[in-house]
Amino acid sequence: MIVSPAFAAKRYCILGLARSGLATLDALMASGAQCTAWDNREEARETAIASHPDVAIGDPMEIDLAGFDGLIVSPGVPLNRHPVADRARAANIPIIGDIELFALARPSLPPHRVVGITGTNGKSTTTALIHHILREAGVPTIMGGNIGLPILSQPPLPEGGVYVLELSSYQIDLTFSLDCDVAVLLNITPDHLDRYDGFAGYCAAKARLFAMQGTDHAAVIATDDAQTRAIATGLANAIEVHAADIPAADQSAWPTLQGPHNAQNVAVALAVAAALGLDEAQTRRSLATYSSLPHRMEQIAQHKGVLYVNDSKATNPASTAPALGAFARIHWIVGGLPKGDSLEECAEHFDHVVHAYTIGEAGPVFADQLEKVMPVTRAEMMANAVRSAMANAHGGDVVLLSPACASFDQFRDFEARGDSFRKIVDALIANDHTQQEEAAQ
Ligand code: ADP
Repeated sequence: MIVSPAFAAKRYCILGLARSGLATLDALMASGAQCTAWDNREEARETAIASHPDVAIGDPMEIDLAGFDGLIVSPGVPLNRHPVADRARAANIPIIGDIELFALARPSLPPHRVVGITGTNGKSTTTALIHHILREAGVPTIMGGNIGLPILSQPPLPEGGVYVLELSSYQIDLTFSLDCDVAVLLNITPDHLDRYDGFAGYCAAKARLFAMQGTDHAAVIATDDAQTRAIATGLANAIEVHAADIPAADQSAWPTLQGPHNAQNVAVALAVAAALGLDEAQTRRSLATYSSLPHRMEQIAQHKGVLYVNDSKATNPASTAPALGAFARIHWIVGGLPKGDSLEECAEHFDHVVHAYTIGEAGPVFADQLEKVMPVTRAEMMANAVRSAMANAHGGDVVLLSPACASFDQFRDFEARGDSFRKIVDALIANDHTQQEEAAQ
């Protein structure tokens, strides 16, 4: 756990006692802070009391917030709509998150560096990739932020370590003093617009990661879109990279980093590694041994020459587009809870799609669009989609789940959707094997 004298005798109010809220409570209490904690769920409050009998329980919507050193909220709280934001502002106390606490704790940690990674798509992949490169180079490192365990619950790194933080725009909104040694911006496309004052507001949230940086620190920016270019233009410390910097011949040596989107992630990771002073040849070797994260272009099975790829994490058309670009002959399972009505962003790779299988709420609208340019099966359910795709696919084809939609119409989350895809694929393959064995007897 990360503790710091910076929190001793400070008073914090914590709203939300899920995993990161509880980790924050642990770290603050162990650092000698006084905490008032709240969660609308009674069992969450009881869990907090069980581990910290001296924690005060109080709802920040009711107690007097004046005098607290901060209100700590989870990034899931929509601050643009939640009334607690007005109360905190009226009491003149900052609204912060666990990343800001980490930033405040940094001066008392052994000398270290921080890489902070943001962007609309590719954050987790690039975070995990940079973490992998550092580990392979023998540098002490941990990942945190929007990925893995809460950063405050992890043991601090020894001297020379590198913290690699995945930062969503919501987390950046709750952070004010994180000076990243290397800050990274991958790309910006419209997303989460319910939480921001238009697209410009969302872009401004991402740009704040760089406003917090000292100018002697590196800003690695993939300037493949107009929004990231605009941000880079205003910075003195920008190191610009592009997906096109990575030759296709090089990329073919990295099996889990296929597709134009991963070329962007690799271009960024190479620049970060260089900014950290790592040896380039060693970095490039480690790209070949990176294993992809679950649900992101994850190759889950190969059967009769057909590759099955789970890209359930692709929850918007911008993240599906490069997945379609990554393979030549695709049976594409698409749909779910739509974030917009159009698949226009994916259109440049439609010639790679042999057949589409629509599922979920977006299914009928997507099918109407896609039928004009490709064969479509209106599958509605995942199992129908996989069964039909398996029946149609030939050796060399890829069956790709890359839904371009959120999952909540039919699944708990994108992980449950990817797990369902995998289970159905596994079951159908097992069934096929049984039939073959029976036929051979
Ligand atoms: P995030 O953490 O930002 O959501 P992930 O690494 O989990 O990003 O990837 C989310 C989805 O975006 C996956 O479907 C993946 O294939 C796709 N993706 C990954 N990197 C990029 C990129 N650089 N540009 C566009 N899409 C990407």
